[in-house]
Amino acid sequence: KPHLSAALGRIQPSATLAMTARVTRLKAEGVDVIGLSAGEPDFDTPDFVKEAAIAAIRAGQTKYTLVDGTVALKEAIRGKFRRDNGLDYGLDQITVNVGGKHTLFNALVATVDAGDEVVIPAPYWVSYPDIVAFAGGTPVFIAASAAQHYKITPAQLDQAITPKTRWVIFNSPSNPSGAAYSPEELDAIGEVIRRHPHVMVMCDDMYEHVWYADFAFSTLAQRCPDLIDRILTVNGCSKAYAMTGWRIGFAGGPAWLIKAIGKLQSQSTSNPCSIAQAAATAALGGPQQFLDDRNAAFRKRRDMVVAMLNDAPGLNCPVPDGAFYVYPDASGCIGKKTPSGHVIDSDEALIDYFLDSARVAAVHGGAFGLSPAFRVSYATSEAVLKEACVRIQQACAALS
Ligand code: PLP
Repeated sequence: KPHLSAALGRIQPSATLAMTARVTRLKAEGVDVIGLSAGEPDFDTPDFVKEAAIAAIRAGQTKYTLVDGTVALKEAIRGKFRRDNGLDYGLDQITVNVGGKHTLFNALVATVDAGDEVVIPAPYWVSYPDIVAFAGGTPVFIAASAAQHYKITPAQLDQAITPKTRWVIFNSPSNPSGAAYSPEELDAIGEVIRRHPHVMVMCDDMYEHVWYADFAFSTLAQRCPDLIDRILTVNGCSKAYAMTGWRIGFAGGPAWLIKAIGKLQSQSTSNPCSIAQAAATAALGGPQQFLDDRNAAFRKRRDMVVAMLNDAPGLNCPVPDGAFYVYPDASGCIGKKTPSGHVIDSDEALIDYFLDSARVAAVHGGAFGLSPAFRVSYATSEAVLKEACVRIQQACAALS
């Protein structure tokens, strides 16, 4: 009889990846379905990055590297933290891992024991609670509703922290809501963290460069330099440089934690792909101008999608300041009936209805811990987005 570990039993497969797989299956069957579930930019990896990878292969950079990253890549990351965030991490305070998810996984598995609590604001990125549970910890959620623009208040954070809290996970701009914290809001979060010296903060800045707010992006360690030894600043190449397939994530943090992450990685993946590391070195050190052009394109789509979804009966879509997702509140659809007589009693039922009747695939809010809502990724062409939003409008209008 097959045996699976208790740790494996504590986790679920990723809901976003599951929906994307469902879309792929439907498309293979010839169904005209529009997938808005994937969490990756539709842009291509920049050519100068690809060229760097090809050059690395030709130069024979095809062997093991140092476990937690080449010196060249760590230098590029150090330069990135200085340039973008005003942070000066030493090379022994930087780790490179197989994607940002792996960075978070390593950090949590290296530090969380059974009984430890990890505070996670909801709506949250789907993997946080599962990784915490895998590590044996207990996720503690804070609900940040649409009315509060999907951002937690300092008072909510203060209440969620207990003597058992090991980490607070903080993600701005957020997947799935796109909510981004202002410098002043970060200061107020830092003030709470300051009062609880046993708590560490996992600051997930993965969407730093997908940004539309009229204030500049900042990260917690930059706003609160006195807390820098209690913060792991997590970032990666996936979203900014359209490098999801290359699998490079990284973090800056206290040397003891960086060392622990390296120890764990040395007994699991060893180094991230040497060629991907060369590509990441080029991405972080190369021209950054194209980020603005991509943001301008994303922003146009965001504006269209927000406007069209707000025109759909029953939906209320706040305007996100970053990332490439919107997270409409669907309270106005719950309790209504579909033309075939089914009652929409949850956001999951709503998403099934969208898929079955409108052939549009989004991800239900339950997967992100805040219902009723759903996530739409607008990392796809304007024409496709427009058609998808028309279909959602029609599906919502058909509810009674
Ligand atoms: N953090 C957030 C908030 C994300 O949305 C993602 C990817 O979807 C990641 C981290 C991990 O990115 P990757 O492992 O692809 O580098």
